[in-house]
Amino acid sequence: MNSKDYIEKAEQSVLHTYNRFPVVLDRGEGVYLTDVDGKQYLDFGAGIAVFALGYGNQAYNDALKEQVDRLIHTSNLYYHAPLADAAEKLVRVSEMDKVFFTNSGTEAIEGAIKTARKYAFLKDGRTDHEIIAMNHSFHGRSVGALSVTGNPHYQEAFKPLMGGVRFADFNDLASVEAQVTDRTCAIILETVQGEGGIYPATPEFLSGVKQLCEERDILLILDEIQCGMGRTGSYFAWQQYGVKPDIMTCAKALGCGVPVGAFVLNEKVAKASLVPGDHGTTYGGNPLACAAVSKVFDLFEEMHLVEHVREIAPYLEEKLDALVDQYAFLRLRRGKGLMQGLVVQGRPVGEIVNRALDNGLIVLSAGSDVLRLVPPLIITKEDVDEMVRRLELSF
Ligand SMILES: *Cc1c(COP(=O)(O)O)cnc(C)c1O
Repeated sequence: MNSKDYIEKAEQSVLHTYNRFPVVLDRGEGVYLTDVDGKQYLDFGAGIAVFALGYGNQAYNDALKEQVDRLIHTSNLYYHAPLADAAEKLVRVSEMDKVFFTNSGTEAIEGAIKTARKYAFLKDGRTDHEIIAMNHSFHGRSVGALSVTGNPHYQEAFKPLMGGVRFADFNDLASVEAQVTDRTCAIILETVQGEGGIYPATPEFLSGVKQLCEERDILLILDEIQCGMGRTGSYFAWQQYGVKPDIMTCAKALGCGVPVGAFVLNEKVAKASLVPGDHGTTYGGNPLACAAVSKVFDLFEEMHLVEHVREIAPYLEEKLDALVDQYAFLRLRRGKGLMQGLVVQGRPVGEIVNRALDNGLIVLSAGSDVLRLVPPLIITKEDVDEMVRRLELSF
């Protein structure tokens, strides 16, 4: 069967909720993917900022295979060694105190929301707490996560959503202050907005929000699902701002392809929020998922991936800035580390993304006018040069 056959077959049975590109991916090696027709793609999307290690990392694959043969699943009624390992490593690199593993990013957000509400409930016994979220944010598609996602287009048909959410403007501290009430229990934001168009928080904004949270005993929830795990040049983006959250969410590159997410709490919140019976999941943090997380952290250390991002990112930025200088329709570059966006003016981003695919390059869009680059963290200068070559062919 070729691509066309697989696509036809899939369309017969798969609910049509994605406008997929007409490509049937088959295998990967390093930063290249190959489709069933044998065509190769340089991947600067990494499965939406997931595959940090690159494809076909043998040590990672072997760790998973070993765990598959040993034990894939147990439920959370029991302990297992990968859980202890993965939790210890995530807590250590995140400088946080306690972790709850989920199966996805959206579930990590759900857990963060419940934790914040429980913390506030234990404090004042009220049941009308509010959360402040940001316009143009993205936190996931389940009803709770969708309720704090500042994109009316995603929300419209699914109302009524979860109540008690107020929206403010990202990087506008006054607009956040204006939404604070005596019922505010949490402020949630992405340290670097991803889907909304690659907007890094300004240092003044993030420290201003943190100060506001401390003054009013409001919990700061930082969504590091896309910008975390080394992508911006530190394990978590907030570590470069020196603004520590009370609750952090993580997913995407956390398992590097095995579905797993987490919400991570500081001690203050961990000891005064969720207790047995409050929250749970059948799969969340099962042995296979935790073996993946544990190995990912080992490999990040062995491969010095975070350091590598700090080394290679300036080269990528330089090359992208040169494109902005050269092409009038590229208005500016925004981003941090290996999470970069090019703002496109006067022509549809989708057209460039499509043409890039024809030219064997995977890039993503974000927002309505941003070309998003979130490659595997292992990219080299040669990969950046090749990306630029294929991208320019697609302009
Ligand atoms: C992808 C993403 C989510 C949702 O994660 P899923 O695993 O798709 O549920 C939430 N927040 C941010 C910032 C994301 O990029």
